[in-house]
Amino acid sequence: MSEPVERIKTLIIGSGPAGYTAAIYAARADLKPVVYTGMEPGGQLTTTTEVDNFPGYPEGVDGPTMMVQLQQQAERFGTEVRVGMVTAVEFSDENGGIHKITVDDSKQIEAETVIISTGASAKYLNTPSEQRLRGGGVSACAVCDGFFYKGQEVAIVGGGDTAAEEASYLANICKKVTMLVRKDHMRASKAMQHRVNSLDNIEIRYNTEVDEVLGDQVVEGLRMVNNQTGEKEEIAITGLFIAIGHKPNTDIFKGQLEMDETGYIITRGKSTKTNKPGVFASGDVQDKEYRQAVTAAGTGCMAALDAERYLALVESKETVDTE
Ligand SMILES: Cc1cc2nc3c(=O)[nH]c(=O)nc-3n(C[C@H](O)[C@H](O)[C@H](O)COP(=O)(O)OP(=O)(O)OC[C@H]3O[C@@H](n4cnc5c(N)ncnc54)[C@H](O)[C@@H]3O)c2cc1C
Repeated sequence: MSEPVERIKTLIIGSGPAGYTAAIYAARADLKPVVYTGMEPGGQLTTTTEVDNFPGYPEGVDGPTMMVQLQQQAERFGTEVRVGMVTAVEFSDENGGIHKITVDDSKQIEAETVIISTGASAKYLNTPSEQRLRGGGVSACAVCDGFFYKGQEVAIVGGGDTAAEEASYLANICKKVTMLVRKDHMRASKAMQHRVNSLDNIEIRYNTEVDEVLGDQVVEGLRMVNNQTGEKEEIAITGLFIAIGHKPNTDIFKGQLEMDETGYIITRGKSTKTNKPGVFASGDVQDKEYRQAVTAAGTGCMAALDAERYLALVESKETVDTE
């Protein structure tokens, strides 16, 4: 016999800073939130050791600890956290409509409101040496980890706007930044290229790719290869930043929610509202600008408040309609 369909007031998809912050606010507003953790319980911060820039931790905190604490805070107010992956959705177009959610291809849920906090995954090169040294000097976030390489020599891979922006951010902190651009030109806007070119401690290597990241436990150097001549060269660095883009985790929402050309969910104005009534998006999944834990948490708070206000409006309209 198949399981009965469960009705949930506020379903939160994702357990990163956005999802858990939404849960804290939703639980305190008595929306009885249920969080589905997905394949990475705690989100991206569980892949990093040191978080130095989240307010409230004067000594810094390691990512997994911070995420366990956020989960505990959400649970303290009655959030139910479940391990499971949302595999399909069918969002209603109606104001006050019920959204149908499938978890792990089997469990059926009906939700009055849905908060999407599924994040965006950084793209990596996926070479063995890069993967081995992730967290040991290989990072996909210059704003997060650049500080740890103050006064040191680092390299960055990528030629788009994000890479150019992160290279200039690193140039302010580090002694030297070597920028590896795969093509013979950068994709970044002219203004960003100008910024990178104007900084003396950035050296741009065109037609250049990573051959191998060197080091056993931590990054000690980089072997680069010129993809035109095949010539290889080693440089000493302590940090390697990968800035070749992010992929928002939105595949299951395609065709139902408005997204930009790269798959980020579009939210309305200053709110977290999507194009479907009662469906809200928070965190990196709708933010390609900032992608920080604190901004994700901020929009998680907004999403819970938006959900609460939406439910109150729906309820009041129902009352009016039936009078
Ligand atoms: C190595 C690294 C270091 C970082 N360091 C810092 C730092 O020091 N400071 C800082 O502010 N930021 C840092 N960041 C950025 C920060 O981690 C992100 O901005 C933040 O985690 C985004 O939060 P989020 O809640 O939007 O998404 P995420 O943290 O990405 O969480 C997404 C969640 O959604 C879940 N999910 C995805 N798909 C589904 C599905 N179909 N069903 C159910 N669940 C699903 C995942 O399992 C995960 O729990 C770092 C990022 C990385 C990669």
